[in-house]
Amino acid sequence: MRLSRYFLPVLKENPAEAQIVSHRLMLRAGMIKQQAAGIYSWLPLGYKVLKRIEQIVHEEQVRAGHIPLLMPTLQPADLWRESGRYDDYGQEMLRIKDRHERDMLYGPTNEEMITDIFRSYVSSYKQLPLTLYHIQWKFRDEVRPRFGVMRGREFLMKDGYNFDLTKEDALHAYNRHMVSYLRTYERMGLTAIPMRAASGPIGGDNTHEFLVLAQTGESEVFYDAKVPDLKLGDRAVDYDNRDEVAAICEEFTTLYARTDETHDEAVFNKIPEERRMVGRGIEVGQIFYFGTKYSESMGATVVTPDGNRVPVEMGSHGIGVSRLLGALIEANHDDKGIIWPEGVTPFHVGIVNLKQGDTATDAACEAIYKALQGRGLDPLYDDREDRAGAKFATMDLIGLPWRITVGPRGLANNVVELTCRRTGESEEMSATAAVERIVKIYEAH
Ligand code: ATP
Ligand code: MG
Repeated sequence: MRLSRYFLPVLKENPAEAQIVSHRLMLRAGMIKQQAAGIYSWLPLGYKVLKRIEQIVHEEQVRAGHIPLLMPTLQPADLWRESGRYDDYGQEMLRIKDRHERDMLYGPTNEEMITDIFRSYVSSYKQLPLTLYHIQWKFRDEVRPRFGVMRGREFLMKDGYNFDLTKEDALHAYNRHMVSYLRTYERMGLTAIPMRAASGPIGGDNTHEFLVLAQTGESEVFYDAKVPDLKLGDRAVDYDNRDEVAAICEEFTTLYARTDETHDEAVFNKIPEERRMVGRGIEVGQIFYFGTKYSESMGATVVTPDGNRVPVEMGSHGIGVSRLLGALIEANHDDKGIIWPEGVTPFHVGIVNLKQGDTATDAACEAIYKALQGRGLDPLYDDREDRAGAKFATMDLIGLPWRITVGPRGLANNVVELTCRRTGESEEMSATAAVERIVKIYEAH
């Protein structure tokens, strides 16, 4: 993309309404525009990152054997009357009437609808196990929408639902989700810690939240200092292997890590004092096992191998896709702007032309731009006639992890400059070497 033809409405001033750094930087970098409290347009740069995050979530769900579908945002109230949640959900639910005075709602989550789909088509244990998921907009009329996309009213969520014959099978599905979530967050360059949680309106006994440590997080967290060092890395996981998946879950949940809702001072105090950490975290996902809570009330049953009919065992599993942008920025920024991890960056590399209009410099930039595109990469070329300082400031603000700077002085020596956004370190090399270096960096992502 050539910046001269792109739509990147960056703001020079700090927007007064933003209380936390991620909200401020998303507004300044022209990623989002507020349309009403907690409701945002996703401008091109923000939309690009949102899509990158969505793609990673999809890939890891499919890898775990889960099946994508798409349910609507609007739902009939009658489904929610069956589970009893139409009355229970309270003011967070946006209730709507259509022209025929039928009660509708904008879905805050989809347990009822997915259970309805299941009961319409599945009636035998032979069709199990089954896990269906979608990535769809949700609406919750939050009392206090704030922090930009972090606590919106309309927000994008991945929600998945498992259907199993036995509790044991459903717990395997729970574990499978835990491992696939760990891999999902790690691919984005995030450390999200599974913490035992309280269940809330979804219901159920087994539940973990995934928290990204950040000063601005809304949850208070208590954890063993060793927990953030746990990494899944690139180990190959066989998601059908129950023991293997359960062992990984154990590895990640044995050390103490809880939110204030489940915190137990006595247990916490058994950790050596120097490892007792108290901090704040952003909830970026949650998994639940809730058994037959919905299948029983909604009549979603299956015939067992010995001919009995039983309610299907279920769980639900959510990732806050749009909230992740905020969490990623909270965890990756400096005073100049955002620092995107390579896994989610909107453009792979920025090209800064220091002397737009100079024949040789323009030609060198064009050649680099085309070479990167030819290798399947997505560069952002700042081809505007602007001061070098202003161009650098924009690149730093929008946070592309790598920058190639091209100017007449370097070109006289056959070099360009390759700069790492995170470390600020620059290296001179030939244009070809710079392209090869970028290609190599992204081979791993
Ligand atoms: P919270 O405690 O933050 O209100 P929740 O526990 O009610 O969230 P879940 O039902 O667990 O939310 O939804 C799954 C995920 O969706 C959450 O882990 C979170 O990342 C995201 N999410 C929930 N509410 C919002 C919101 N208002 N804005 C953005 N993301 C949200
Ligand atoms: Mg939650």
